[in-house]
Amino acid sequence: MTKPSTTTPRPIRGTQDIFGAEAEAFAFVVETFERVRRLYRFRRVEMPVFERTEVFARSIGETTDIVSKEMYSFEDRGGESLTLRPEFTAGIARAYLTNGWQQYAPVKIATHGPLFRYERPQKGRYRQFHQIDAEIIGAAEPQADVELLAFADQLLRELGIEGVTLHLNTLGDGDSREAWRAALVEYFRAVRGDLSEDSQERLEKNPLRILDSKDPRDIAFVADAPKIDQFLSDDARTFFDAVTGGLDAAGVKWQRAESLVRGLDYYRHTAFEFVPANGSAAAAALGSQSTVLGGGRYDGLMESLGGSATPAVGWAAGIERLAMLVGERGADRPDIAIVSEHRAFDDSAMQYAARFRAAGYSVELFATGNPRKRYDKMLRIDPRAIVKVGLPDGSDGLSIKAEEDGRLSSDRLQDVATSPL
Ligand code: ATP
Ligand code: MG
Repeated sequence: MTKPSTTTPRPIRGTQDIFGAEAEAFAFVVETFERVRRLYRFRRVEMPVFERTEVFARSIGETTDIVSKEMYSFEDRGGESLTLRPEFTAGIARAYLTNGWQQYAPVKIATHGPLFRYERPQKGRYRQFHQIDAEIIGAAEPQADVELLAFADQLLRELGIEGVTLHLNTLGDGDSREAWRAALVEYFRAVRGDLSEDSQERLEKNPLRILDSKDPRDIAFVADAPKIDQFLSDDARTFFDAVTGGLDAAGVKWQRAESLVRGLDYYRHTAFEFVPANGSAAAAALGSQSTVLGGGRYDGLMESLGGSATPAVGWAAGIERLAMLVGERGADRPDIAIVSEHRAFDDSAMQYAARFRAAGYSVELFATGNPRKRYDKMLRIDPRAIVKVGLPDGSDGLSIKAEEDGRLSSDRLQDVATSPL
């Protein structure tokens, strides 16, 4: 192994170079997401990694952690303030408005990729991390919330993740939320001096977020804080009942979490998180960084970006955190290993590899390095079929040893090997 010299640049704190089993787990999460989103007929979108700073500042909210202290913002050479995206939703909302995606509404979209937040790096928390993301835009009805949650639930099941529970709450409509907010301010004002410094500040700007605090000084008061249920309008109550009824019908298990709020300003009605259950293997794997997937309804967001009122609901999940829960995933066994034990057969081996790959088989080729060592090297990758090129008579014929299971039978492989490219 060559060691980096003192002149080799160091990686940036909070970034990762993902390789080996972790990279396999990461790919498994993304591939499963891609497969399941097709079952739910979400359309794939690709989004820019940076936007004008105002896209995030205006929609996520100036008082949130993300906007107040986590954004990677910089001036470009033209003097414009740009920001590396800290989340997907705001950029997608911008795209919806600037591209006229209203014509497709209601539109179900999905994407994944890197995000950037200036946070204190620790296990499960990075400065460049990755999310999968799903949004339904232009759908006001509770069925959209249900479909979106059923997608998340099925995804977690297909990833084989167990012991993660859907925590569900409603933040009510604008009026309910305002009344609740006023009651929270009154309640927390009475104990102001005992709250964390952050929460004393939140009290004026964004009191709902005290409920989201992880500081033990705040947590002590959260249990007895006023609950949204006392303030729900009839409409908001009806909406929430329709969501929970739909989840029951779709077979999605959920539990009510009365103190659950989401960190961002734009949420209304439904808010949810998938959280490892106490004592589960998932909780042990993730430690305190425990939300794996979160989201909700954000009916107010489009207006904050100058669009007309547009109902929408979405979720995002950290790929690294999901990957930590799917466990070890070794590299797949290859279908076929092709080995040439004499340099005279190397080109033929290459040609056979091309034929097998064109026919949809995965192939590892052993036709480089010391010819006498190739066979033993090949055995170490445990292929399902071994194709040896070169017969004792000096021809480039094949001897094939295969798991005789139809797709990988010797006869079938012999056919493919001799069919034209
Ligand atoms: P947290 O409370 O853990 O900071 P959050 O509320 O900031 O999470 P969201 O903005 O809702 O997180 O992002 C959704 C998901 O993205 C999280 O549940 C988590 O899985 C993942 N995530 C968020 N921030 C990071 C990070 N810095 N590193 C890795 N994953 C992250
Ligand atoms: Mg955060």
